[in-house]
Amino acid sequence: MLGCVIHGPGDLRVEERPVPQPGPGQALVAVRYGGVCGSDLHYWRHGRVGDFRLEEPMVLGHEVVGTVVSYGDGTSGPSVGTAVAVHPATPCGVCPECAGGRRNVCRDTRYLGSAARFPHVQGGFATQVTVPAEQLRQLPDGLEPRRAALAEPLAVAMHAVRRAGEVAGRHVLVTGAGPIGCLVVAAAKAAGAASVTVTDLLPRALRFAAAAGADTLVRADDPHDTGWPGEVDVAVEASGVAAGLDTCLRLVRRGGVVVQLGMLPPGRSPFPGNLVVSREIELRGAFRFDGEFDAAIELLAAEPALDALVSAVVPVREAESAFALAADRGRSCKVLLDFGA
Ligand SMILES: [Zn+2]
Ligand SMILES: [Zn+2]
Repeated sequence: MLGCVIHGPGDLRVEERPVPQPGPGQALVAVRYGGVCGSDLHYWRHGRVGDFRLEEPMVLGHEVVGTVVSYGDGTSGPSVGTAVAVHPATPCGVCPECAGGRRNVCRDTRYLGSAARFPHVQGGFATQVTVPAEQLRQLPDGLEPRRAALAEPLAVAMHAVRRAGEVAGRHVLVTGAGPIGCLVVAAAKAAGAASVTVTDLLPRALRFAAAAGADTLVRADDPHDTGWPGEVDVAVEASGVAAGLDTCLRLVRRGGVVVQLGMLPPGRSPFPGNLVVSREIELRGAFRFDGEFDAAIELLAAEPALDALVSAVVPVREAESAFALAADRGRSCKVLLDFGA
């Protein structure tokens, strides 16, 4: 079978690998689609994402849908052949964060295709992959695997909106119209936001945000754009650049909430902290998700319009060109690798 393996910065290889055998508690899944994520692109370009650094070859990928092939001894789950999405996180279940109900920030979690721990957790960009059976989620009738491949990033977006607190009837700003920013738009609208304004430098990216339900689109580099809101109740930073956080902090109302979701460059970032002080802004982080994965599958089943965010499906043998396409936000939104062709 094939696996999509990162060996170092710029060194992505599609390799023959042995078919894994599911052990007790595990399922073997035939992967259909794998979504290329910003973190996969960071490993490809820089050999690291945030403070997680690549130290051995790693199969990338954590946005995975496919069908059940078999189970390990004594293990059961959705019947063989069932279409499933894979929840990529295996929290430890015993640390203070897990015990306190914040499994998404577990200090000892295993996450598909992540170099956060060593040995790294091998990912799901492979023809077949073993995962804990309890992390399989059966796709509801009518939800195509192609759209279901958005479940992981949509869960990230839904978690960020949940971190913002009440958004129903509120005015929301999202900085960054990449796949995550667009899905934050969809999540905020689903949660009842009165309006969602999105900023980005690229017109093409903003068009994807419109497809996700954004009410107002703003060119981030145009201070005279008539779409700029006076102030908003909630701002979600989804661009991963310091300028986006600056915009959020300047436009949120006094006492409003800013959620930092984008992964900023490693090291120190400029930060207009005095705004946080004098306007009593609540600045919150959002990292991954937990139960939102199930809610994301439900929302995807109900929102066929989100198909528009899958901008390309590329055979796994052309993984390098798929990554290049995904990295070019002027040409793409979510790019899927196709393992089924
Ligand atoms: Zn992802
Ligand atoms: Zn834990």
